[in-house]
Amino acid sequence: RAGIELINVTKRYPGQKTPAVDDVTLTVPVGEIVVLLGPSGSGKTTTMRLINRLIEPTSGKITVAGRDALGLNPTELRRHIGYVIQDAGLFPHMTVATNVGLVPQMLKWDRKRIADRVDELLDLVDLPPDQYRDRYPRELSGGQRQRVGVARALAADPPVMLMDEPFGALDPITREHLQDSLLHLQDELGKTIVFVTHDINEALKLGDRIAILDKGSRIAQFGTPQEILLN
Ligand code: ADP
Ligand code: ADP
Repeated sequence: RAGIELINVTKRYPGQKTPAVDDVTLTVPVGEIVVLLGPSGSGKTTTMRLINRLIEPTSGKITVAGRDALGLNPTELRRHIGYVIQDAGLFPHMTVATNVGLVPQMLKWDRKRIADRVDELLDLVDLPPDQYRDRYPRELSGGQRQRVGVARALAADPPVMLMDEPFGALDPITREHLQDSLLHLQDELGKTIVFVTHDINEALKLGDRIAILDKGSRIAQFGTPQEILLN
């Protein structure tokens, strides 16, 4: 079963000579972590933005949870896809609880349900709610901010998670700790995850499968970590 499917997807930004994503065909099976590994400029972020419908493909087809991504309106999209980016993208003037509750708020859950869900999520990412729910992002470490970013993306329990270098800006020890937490979370939650990195060790550690993008923004190799290592 495909959680996410890209079929012959090409994206050419206006005025660009070479496409940012060139004829990419990729299946992300339900419940797996597929890592997009590639150098800067190889189209990793563009691929994520295409899946999240922040931009339109020039050609090709994208399905999310079996549905044509083009047919999903913004609210449906947020129920289907959680998005985590490098600097967590938290709103600085909002508390941790407000940040984590954003999507449920958008989905018009009642206040009690949102508050309960926020506490549950903070527990899940190892930030005791009593200590952290009323803090502002500036009162957190980089690793804690990423945990809040992950909690926010999980808020409406979307089947799909897009994670764009979520641990890229962290020191090596915090990074390893969050990688372990993610694998642990994934054991419990079984999400369909696309994870972007340019770090081969991170790819080998986290990926059920790895898609290697080359400088020409094409998939040069696709396989399990073992298959990748043997090639
Ligand atoms: P990566 O995430 O692998 O670093 P990107 O997807 O960010 O790669 O970029 C792929 C290519 O598309 C690069 O050549 C980049 O300069 C170009 N690009 C990215 N975003 C835009 C944009 N909004 N407008 C024009 N070109 C862009
Ligand atoms: P803008 O395009 O104005 O930055 P968006 O509405 O795209 O705002 O996103 C608002 C916030 O929601 C951002 O922090 C973004 O990272 C996050 N976000 C975007 N897409 C999703 C998604 N599918 N699920 C959860 N959060 C998302």
